[in-house]
Amino acid sequence: MSTIVDLRSDTVTQPTPAMRAAMMAAPLGDDVFADDPSVNALQERIAQMLGFEAALFVPTGTQSNLCAILAHCQRGDEYIVGQFAHCYRWEGGGAAVLGSVQPQPLAHQSDGTLALADIESSIKPDDAHFARTRLLALENTLGGKLLPLEYVQAATDLARRKGLARHLDGARLFNAATAQAAHTGGDARAEARAIAQCFDSVSVCFSKGLGAPVGSALCGSRDFIARAHRIRKMAGGGMRQSGMLAAAASHALEHHVERLAQDHALARRLADGLAGIDGLQVEAPQTNIVFVDLTGAARDQSAGLLAHLEGQGIRATGLYRLRFVTHLDVDAAGVDRAVAAVRQYFKA
Ligand SMILES: *Cc1c(COP(=O)(O)O)cnc(C)c1O
Repeated sequence: MSTIVDLRSDTVTQPTPAMRAAMMAAPLGDDVFADDPSVNALQERIAQMLGFEAALFVPTGTQSNLCAILAHCQRGDEYIVGQFAHCYRWEGGGAAVLGSVQPQPLAHQSDGTLALADIESSIKPDDAHFARTRLLALENTLGGKLLPLEYVQAATDLARRKGLARHLDGARLFNAATAQAAHTGGDARAEARAIAQCFDSVSVCFSKGLGAPVGSALCGSRDFIARAHRIRKMAGGGMRQSGMLAAAASHALEHHVERLAQDHALARRLADGLAGIDGLQVEAPQTNIVFVDLTGAARDQSAGLLAHLEGQGIRATGLYRLRFVTHLDVDAAGVDRAVAAVRQYFKA
């Protein structure tokens, strides 16, 4: 049996030999004393790349979003957010539990956006009955979908006019930027900056498509990052010789941005390969995530299919709706093996 094709998530990547070398060579200090040169270099690099005054290296995207929401909001404030947004649905309710900040979740449109009219009508008047609406939090990509830039500009403009702060959960910002660059003919780094500049704060994960083992960064103004820094400490995120991890993230920013286009091409290859199988509804991927709905007689077969795939050394996740994610450690041969194994299961 050849190697495992792990399509569960883009978080499963192993650091490349060059990334490991960069980690081993990283000059280190103690970041709680703010003197780890590799952490400081990463923070400066990502802030500059995305056009912010400052940045903060944090262990996880969850902690990054928590620091952002708590740095924007006080107890009794609320943030407007999508029903399926990670920082509402998938982070244990952290902003509410740890910050006494309540979410105001809104339904998504089919393209992943929140309708401007819904955002506007959910902003509460200044009245003792209501929480104070303080923040709009968007996510891009959301479930692998790129939010159109014109939409992001319109939604963040609306928020600004209404006096709300704007946060982007850009865990996969560079996937969004890569997809956007494919439309505009532009460059992924410039597109990432164009998206980021619509917001007061942006969180980016290094441990997903960028291929670093650990870490995220939160970007914003100097004052904002100073507040977030205090919250990071409170949340237990003050790390020490974290320059080893920051060096991996810096390596990823230098070497792994342009290659995201390959992951997107492999996702399309996978989707094309799975097209036309009875009972499978394949959503055309915009980035590196392929969703496949099991319908009709196939609907109850997710467990059987996943077990069959596992038996062939192929990993994916999902129930009724399967998710396949491409990344740095998957190649065309792996994708073709996955397609063949699914076809074999359905005798298609
Ligand atoms: C993965 C992810 C996060 C959180 O990342 P962790 O590092 O796993 O805490 C936040 N937002 C989005 C959209 C994500 O995909």
